[in-house]
Amino acid sequence: MSSKKPSAGDYIDARCTKCRVISNHTIIAMVEDKVVRVQCNTCGGAHNYRAPKAEKPEKVVKPRATAAAKTAKAARTARSKAVVLEQEQWLSASQDADPAKAVPYRMDGTYKVKSWISHPTFGFGLVVSVVPNKVEILFQDGKKLLRCGN
Ligand SMILES: [Zn+2]
Repeated sequence: MSSKKPSAGDYIDARCTKCRVISNHTIIAMVEDKVVRVQCNTCGGAHNYRAPKAEKPEKVVKPRATAAAKTAKAARTARSKAVVLEQEQWLSASQDADPAKAVPYRMDGTYKVKSWISHPTFGFGLVVSVVPNKVEILFQDGKKLLRCGN
């Protein structure tokens, strides 16, 4: 244990209220031999001194995602959600499918909804909708709209 008494201008480890970590602070105010106010050397914020050791167990800070991080994550999730959903649809549909019955995909072919095709690039796919000259096929990596002779 160090017996050196801190004084204003000294460096001290403290829990920063902004950085939320224990970091190097400069003592800016003392009352007798107690540090009362410090300035964070990381963010420059001045705040009341908090001992680096959390004395009360309920004060332990749990790692928590910030609101901004949550929003970013939600946006990413929403964007890929449709694709993930399609991949899941493909997986469940392919379990009941017979690959032997899949017909090779041709641009001039005609297709029926719920029939399986095999595509040289996208693989095994389920026809989900047919519109004039186009067929929407659910492949393992998502839906694709392809040309056809319908
Ligand atoms: Zn700070």
